[in-house]
Amino acid sequence: RPSITFDNIVFGYENERTILHGLSFEVEAGSSVAIVGPSGAGKSTIARLLFRFYDPASGRILIDGQDIARVTQESLRAQIGIVPQDSVLFNDTIGYNIAYGREGADEETMVAAARAAAILPFIERLPDGFDTEVGERGLKLSGGEKQRVAIARTLVKDPPILVLDEATSALDSRTEQDILRTLKQVSEHRTTLAIAHRLSTIADSDRILVLDQGRLAETGTHAELLRKG
Ligand code: ADP
Ligand code: ADP
Repeated sequence: RPSITFDNIVFGYENERTILHGLSFEVEAGSSVAIVGPSGAGKSTIARLLFRFYDPASGRILIDGQDIARVTQESLRAQIGIVPQDSVLFNDTIGYNIAYGREGADEETMVAAARAAAILPFIERLPDGFDTEVGERGLKLSGGEKQRVAIARTLVKDPPILVLDEATSALDSRTEQDILRTLKQVSEHRTTLAIAHRLSTIADSDRILVLDQGRLAETGTHAELLRKG
């Protein structure tokens, strides 16, 4: 359960306009922090920097106190599971899609891992479970079902850090709440960074950061932010 620290991060894409202006925040080990803010505020940029798709112009990003600029890409990827808004699934079974999350795993290993990672609540409601076909060959999964599979595929790697980048934003709010309940049930112990634009998505987070034009405008719990208006 590592912590995440953004320490005075300055960043702009290809030396264009500065997107993050000396951003600092911490996600304590095992806690869940949500980042909200208007479109273009820099929320997804934070996720991309954490994954080292880009490097900051200045400042440091630490995972468990260790500068991510000094760890290998493989060990970084092993630590962070990311679920984007529009996950792409293979035209194959759900089992295959989930096994893909564990490179080279055979079905038996994968099922064992799925049990260990407690991801079964994500797929048990599908009629054929792991054997359900995704795509034109089989059942047409709804958006919510697809995201359930995508989350399961990420969790099967058992990443200590989970990044949800608008992972439920495209869904109706009932489906979203349903998925968030399952997530809470299976990932209580993980360090979670959730990026969202809807407040309802992140009501359960331990702390909320409101980002505006690359700067922190507010931080607090959901209740505190509601009180401040
Ligand atoms: P958010 O997730 O809050 O909507 P983003 O982090 O995606 O915001 O984007 C922040 C700013 O960076 C926006 O102004 C966006 O246009 C710009 N931006 C995002 N990706 C790129 C890119 N690859 N190249 C240049 N500018 C980008
Ligand atoms: P990671 O290594 O983090 O699992 P990848 O970069 O391999 O991510 O893949 C990113 C996304 O694209 C994943 O959701 C994966 O399922 C999907 N993807 C990768 N390759 C293909 C492919 N050939 N066809 C369809 N989807 C793919």
